[in-house]
Amino acid sequence: MIEVVTLGTGSPIPDPNRAGAATLVRIDGHQLLFDCGRAVVMRLAAAGSLPMLLDAVLLTHLHSDHTSDFNDVITTRWIMAPVESPLPVVGPPGTRRFADRTLAMLTDDVGYRRDHHADLAWDPSCSVTEVVDGLAWEADGIRVTAAPTDHRPVAPTIGYRIEAGGRAVAIAGDTVPCEGLDRICAGADVYVQTVLRDDLVRSVPSPRFQDVLDYHSTCEDAGRTARRAGVQTLVLTHPVPPPAPGTEDEWVAAAAAHFDGEVVLAHDLWSVTLS
Ligand SMILES: [Zn+2]
Ligand SMILES: [Zn+2]
Repeated sequence: MIEVVTLGTGSPIPDPNRAGAATLVRIDGHQLLFDCGRAVVMRLAAAGSLPMLLDAVLLTHLHSDHTSDFNDVITTRWIMAPVESPLPVVGPPGTRRFADRTLAMLTDDVGYRRDHHADLAWDPSCSVTEVVDGLAWEADGIRVTAAPTDHRPVAPTIGYRIEAGGRAVAIAGDTVPCEGLDRICAGADVYVQTVLRDDLVRSVPSPRFQDVLDYHSTCEDAGRTARRAGVQTLVLTHPVPPPAPGTEDEWVAAAAAHFDGEVVLAHDLWSVTLS
């Protein structure tokens, strides 16, 4: 059984109802966290999980809205774990350096807590695997593969395909349509895609906001990718800009114009279970 929980469905734009980008996948007692944006540990707790229960954190890329609370995952796992338990981390090249810098940032706090707690006899740590294309994580019949995506000038970036029990889930991250994205989505039961509405972004006269148009999938792009790959359910997440209340159907309709399967605009803690 695979459960997919969209823990955080926000973007860099603060939204009181949408935490930062993060998706939890639970499979037969294993728990994999994809990205860890703003407030991810609060949303993990709401989903009945905790950092110390994670088998791995898998990052699609190192943009801050996908990684801003990575430090909280590390610290909370460290202070709650009864024994030393390095955090397995998977991500594109650059992830090891990012993890090392995050651990360095935590040095003062690690010192305070180790001085105070005699039984906390180890520092937090990460075991990092960097990947661009191919096997990312594997255990007990669960297989996670990575493929390169296209979020340039941010590079390298990757998407993930999780396979177990004949089911498949694709977690795309930020990307425009590309060959690697098609590969992780091929025949998937669920495809989770970060999206924007180009009509709404274009209506905001800010050069910095307009810049985001060229490296994300629109709802229409996501619908076309879903159709091309033959997926069952398309899950739109990380909507830019945050949807105004009552306009959620517009986002779904924009994707559904290009895809006959089920389309969902996810909210925080939305979930689907594949048996
Ligand atoms: Zn990004
Ligand atoms: Zn993003």
